[in-house]
Amino acid sequence: MTHVIDTGGQDHRWLGNGYWKAQGARIVASRPAVDDQKARGSLQMTALRQLIDDRLAGTEPVYADIVFEDRYDLETGGIRLEIFHPGPAHTPGDSFVLLPAKGVVFTGDIVYVERILGVSEQSSIKEWPSTFEAVERTGAGHVVPGHGHATTMARARADTYDYLVNLRDRIAEHIENGGDILGSVEVDQSAFVHLEQFDSLARRNAQTAFQQMEWD
Ligand SMILES: [Zn+2]
Repeated sequence: MTHVIDTGGQDHRWLGNGYWKAQGARIVASRPAVDDQKARGSLQMTALRQLIDDRLAGTEPVYADIVFEDRYDLETGGIRLEIFHPGPAHTPGDSFVLLPAKGVVFTGDIVYVERILGVSEQSSIKEWPSTFEAVERTGAGHVVPGHGHATTMARARADTYDYLVNLRDRIAEHIENGGDILGSVEVDQSAFVHLEQFDSLARRNAQTAFQQMEWD
């Protein structure tokens, strides 16, 4: 174990840092990810304490040793990794990790497959699609998504990019037609109803997208 890469600011992307650091790993994260972790760390700890109580004992927020702006190349054990932070996606500091020799990309929460992605207040409905495009430009043949099984770029595009662009376009239309936040939940997302957790998240995603796009 030499390095651990935080691919975002959500609790499950970084709160293990302290454990790995104690094993001698160096932690790598983008600057916006560290800023996001610092801003939300205490809230995340509070929420987790309610959820798992004593089992949180020993977990403390620990931040990256290596902080990069938009790219960091890492060579370890004869393997070369390229880490990119092209822009915000699910969280402000999301990054993806390319293993060029194998044509594999680890996308963190930039890509969800099988289940519907979550647009939360930390997400960027405006910039997430172009961040996905940067993943696609790697040309990697194997995609390891943040949620869902290892997959192809085509499937990643279908379940993540197409979902985001549909939501963004439908909400833009809704706003142009003078629609309000209450009506925003009704925009047509029916092409994605097959995604897991569609019923619990699609309407909330629409509201969050509306809030982010309302004043543009
Ligand atoms: Zn996640």
